[in-house]
Amino acid sequence: MAPVVKPCEICAAPMVLPPSVASRRRTCSRSCQARLLSAERRGSGNPNYRRGPAEWRCAFCGRPFADRYYVARRKYCCRDCQRLDRMDCRRTEARALRRGRTRESASEGGEPAC
Ligand SMILES: [Zn+2]
Ligand SMILES: [Zn+2]
Repeated sequence: MAPVVKPCEICAAPMVLPPSVASRRRTCSRSCQARLLSAERRGSGNPNYRRGPAEWRCAFCGRPFADRYYVARRKYCCRDCQRLDRMDCRRTEARALRRGRTRESASEGGEPAC
């Protein structure tokens, strides 16, 4: 089988690999491998490693944000939005509960989680 040539995901140096390892191998050297791992752990930032930046919209403020990593898990553009959205959700739920319970107990202090 013909060798496969693919670029290192860190330094973009072309790697000539046998097809059996080409799909697994992502970097040309140990130092590039280490950088790849640390970039993935950190979750962002390495300009040499791109998986196609995607644009997502914040679930709270609707502002588009780009995130290259862990996009599936992210809903918000920033921590503040995440916090505020959760607080808002709590408030709405608390209000609904209060409305439903006005007859039996006017005072409920519980904070339901969303
Ligand atoms: Zn490399
Ligand atoms: Zn936001």
